[in-house]
Amino acid sequence: MGADASLLLYTGAVMSCLFCKIIEGSIPSTKEYKDDRCYAFADIHPQAPVHILIAPREHRSSLDAAGEENEQPALLGHLLQVAVHLARIKGLAKGYRVVINIGEDGGQTVDHLHVHLLGGRAMGWPPG
Ligand code: AMP
Ligand code: ZN
Repeated sequence: MGADASLLLYTGAVMSCLFCKIIEGSIPSTKEYKDDRCYAFADIHPQAPVHILIAPREHRSSLDAAGEENEQPALLGHLLQVAVHLARIKGLAKGYRVVINIGEDGGQTVDHLHVHLLGGRAMGWPPG
């Protein structure tokens, strides 16, 4: 695929992306944290007393599509650090779970990379 075609596909994905719209503010959300690299907000269908989504501001469809650019490990590390920060703020001293769903079998339903922070109840294993 040529550079122009992939740019068009990328632009289309961003324009129609639910989480891009949440991050830019055109769809409302309950903010939990924000900085120059990510935005964290309450999950609309919480699966635990604390259920927060942490998403990079820049669109990436999934962890698998994250690529191998130089800044990628730093961004992923940052998302995890924000999860730990929020877990502390939310008082999840007994523990919590951090989840990234990837693709169809992984249960991903929104194609914008995000980390789930779940806590406030005991988690089962294995996950469904
Ligand atoms: P995943 O299935 O890993 O892609 O996670 C997507 C998550 O986004 C689900 O837990 C949904 O409940 C959540 N979600 C979908 N729409 C919204 C929304 N408008 N605001 C907040 N969370 C949402
Ligand atoms: Zn997006």
